[in-house]
Amino acid sequence: MTQPGSSDVDRHWLRAAIELSARCTPSASAFSVGAVLVGDDGEVLTDGYSRELDPADHAEEVALAKIGLPRPAGSAAMTSLAGATLYSSLEPCAGRKSRPSACADLIIASGIGRVVIAWREPPIFVRGGGALRLRASGVIVTTLPELAAAARAVNAHLLRD
Ligand SMILES: [Zn+2]
Repeated sequence: MTQPGSSDVDRHWLRAAIELSARCTPSASAFSVGAVLVGDDGEVLTDGYSRELDPADHAEEVALAKIGLPRPAGSAAMTSLAGATLYSSLEPCAGRKSRPSACADLIIASGIGRVVIAWREPPIFVRGGGALRLRASGVIVTTLPELAAAARAVNAHLLRD
């Protein structure tokens, strides 16, 4: 029931990522995002949320760093993550101001095969484009627009019209 791939299961884990995003310390200059990495056997491998360990942390970056990803070049290979799915409440970033590596590049370097998101990054702080970059590197990207409103609600303080 909890293996990634079916839409019910994808919704389950994406909801879990959105719930994590609600734990973020709100910021006036960055989105609140949650991320959960699930193996092809349905086990949670790691998770994270924005600013969890440091004020500059992005959710995907924290989640990957907790399990030592991405591995430095030349280090011993770990189990392939080609069958793993990263659930993120927001499209992974393709560029950022605070750190050199965009989350899309960290995901690609980690060998994760699939990313499921609720919401495309609006161009408020940086340009979007993470989904495009992931796809260009062969990562499958699935958007579940039915959960976009829940992901946006956590960021309502940034989205005043
Ligand atoms: Zn990011």
